[in-house]
Amino acid sequence: MTEPVALTPEQADLVARQAERWNQPATQQAARERLALAKERAAGNDERMRTQLKQLAKAPGIGHKIYGLRQMAETFAQAVAPHAACTTGCSACCYQPVQVTLQEAQVIARETGARMQAPASWSTEADMRHVGQACPFLKEARCTIYQHRPMACRLMFNMDADALLCQMVPGALSHVPYADYADHKELYVRAHLGKVKSQEELQEALKALKMADLREFFPQGPASR
Ligand code: SF4
Repeated sequence: MTEPVALTPEQADLVARQAERWNQPATQQAARERLALAKERAAGNDERMRTQLKQLAKAPGIGHKIYGLRQMAETFAQAVAPHAACTTGCSACCYQPVQVTLQEAQVIARETGARMQAPASWSTEADMRHVGQACPFLKEARCTIYQHRPMACRLMFNMDADALLCQMVPGALSHVPYADYADHKELYVRAHLGKVKSQEELQEALKALKMADLREFFPQGPASR
């Protein structure tokens, strides 16, 4: 059994404020309303999304597929971002686990020149050891690899009014009303699996998928100039 984590007074205060916010029915209602507006806006992008999906299906190799996935994430973001709490300069989600595949890490390394290393272990689940730990690519509250950031960073939008609920405290649970990006996550995973014909093949391919937290691949962050 893991020991409960002792919170500092500041962390305890934050956790209490988060609970108070989340437990107000108006919070969740407002988030649902913002999401509904985003969905309405997304409907206008349906055709573009369909075209991007076809291009993704034809893309040869995972490198090209990652570019296709990024374009789809951009279309998603155009609809959701105007209704989300996420603003330029906010880096709250850069203290959360960021799971990437080996292949995506290789694309990022190639594009940015950042030194990449092999993680000590692989897991498709979020690595909770990194909760509250700044991403090594975060400098002065800005992403230094913004154009090349992982898919996980492109798809998370908090539909609350501000960043209060995104601030993670190790050992404490915060509910965040994220916009649903499950379809994009599935496309991301499937892009790595190749053609699978049966459920068994799918399970085997998933077992072979190599994923780890971004921090495990790039502990040193951006390439030194
Ligand atoms: S890659 Fe950039 S956006 Fe993603 S967690 Fe790191 S600093 Fe934040």
